[in-house]
Amino acid sequence: MAAPAVPRVDETLLRETIRTLSSDEYEGRGPGTAAEPKTLDAIIARFKAAGLQPGNKGTDGKPTWLQDVPTATITGINRSPLVVTGAAQTLTFQPSSEFVSGSYRITPHTEVKDSELVFVGYGINAPELGWNDYAGIDMKGKTAVILVNDPDYAMAGEDGPFRGRRMTYYGRWTYKFEEAARQGATGALIIHDTFPAAYGWQVVESSWSGAQHFVQTANDGADQTAANGWIQKPVAEAILKAAGQDLAALTAAAQTKGFKPVPLGLKASLSFDNTIEKANSHNVIGILPGTNRPDEYVLYSAHWDHLGRCKPDATGDDICNGAVDNATGVAALAALAKMNAAAKPAARSQVFLAVTLEESGLLGSEYYAQNPVFPLAKTVGGVNMDALSVGGPAKDITVTGGDKSELTAILRKVEGEMGLSEAPEEHPERGHYYRSDHFSLAKRGVPMFDVGRGTDLVNGGKAAGQAASDDYVNVRYHQPSDQYQESWDISGMVQDVKLFYRLGRELANSSAWPNWHPTDEFRAVRDKSRAAAAAK
Ligand SMILES: [Zn+2]
Repeated sequence: MAAPAVPRVDETLLRETIRTLSSDEYEGRGPGTAAEPKTLDAIIARFKAAGLQPGNKGTDGKPTWLQDVPTATITGINRSPLVVTGAAQTLTFQPSSEFVSGSYRITPHTEVKDSELVFVGYGINAPELGWNDYAGIDMKGKTAVILVNDPDYAMAGEDGPFRGRRMTYYGRWTYKFEEAARQGATGALIIHDTFPAAYGWQVVESSWSGAQHFVQTANDGADQTAANGWIQKPVAEAILKAAGQDLAALTAAAQTKGFKPVPLGLKASLSFDNTIEKANSHNVIGILPGTNRPDEYVLYSAHWDHLGRCKPDATGDDICNGAVDNATGVAALAALAKMNAAAKPAARSQVFLAVTLEESGLLGSEYYAQNPVFPLAKTVGGVNMDALSVGGPAKDITVTGGDKSELTAILRKVEGEMGLSEAPEEHPERGHYYRSDHFSLAKRGVPMFDVGRGTDLVNGGKAAGQAASDDYVNVRYHQPSDQYQESWDISGMVQDVKLFYRLGRELANSSAWPNWHPTDEFRAVRDKSRAAAAAK
């Protein structure tokens, strides 16, 4: 059977949308600035023109394009030292140089007093692998001391239980704090180590010394630990030594299945104040209702925000325009809305989601996933688009995250029909799958594609692909020079939009529910969510 027809990709719409959203008039699309209403209006106008309907309902029950995204920015100040007691001598460590800390709770003061320290290995609870670093311990009131990354990160290949060198979500520091909170811990301290963390202490220190951004929740984060933080490796070694333990020996033990948490017989205390600023931004949501199963949903998403006014370059330009990042993704979203509306409606509903605050830590998508307009158990899957290629057509595409789910079979089919090959992810150890908006949905069970720019260009091959990628990463990424250029060859973007159209239509016209593979970290949460929806 021939591949289904793909409607024309509106190149004029792509260029016009990128040119507009990345113009200086939009000031780099900073959330909460004067640029926000302008940007929202521009997206809504394109969704309307395409023929989408508003995807949300306001408090008055009327259809609306917007979803409020309330946020809280927390900055820790007046940090005390970290004091550890219970050994022959009291140990005292200084904030910034030896440890960093912060709270996920929206509260003016954080105090951890005499909290028992427990070494919990990698801090992983993976029922699908029969692995639980918290086995047999009640963490209530206690503070977890946790190794960074996952047990088999140092492997050359990807065959280990935690996919070897490839990072799994269990290796991300965000997971460690989430799991410690689920265990009921009062505190969680990750031991920094440059090789498995992939960055030095200064990166931890600078990113934890300033403001931290969160979405507001009904309980103000009461289900989180009181304090999270990182400690320098020598600090961990000193603490473990005082407890009569050895970090190297405990690390080796933690890399074996069946490891049990080790109470250290020591108590930790620390405190700090929090300044809290609340704000509000918005996601834009449009929908094309499905014909046969309108209560089943397929997503397209892209973040509209960028860095706004930023550090000026040598010419004094202080607008981080975000043309590639991510006016290209929003332009693709508008083009896909038009293409899907022009085609016969699909069996399932198609949702178009332009999210805010990606640059502040995926907050718009996180808020949507915590407060989904369409139930996640009824959301089949989707495609997220972030920073599309402007370097011309490619012979291949890059797949981030590797083969995690049954989406792979759909992708391979479409690749075959389009004559595209698949490039391996260049740095599987960096966990890029866990660092863009699709992840907010994936971690709650919704399988999401993360496919992007090719590496082997039609004109110039791999060398040209590498040069284009280096130019973007080194010269433009998150700088005022990420600007639109009329000279761009957007035929590669057109090709990617066709691919995204095909992937979305495959999901939207099917009755299948592609799932995560049985040993994938998101399989259990998907099975649970689907079973709960079926029981209703
Ligand atoms: Zn981006």
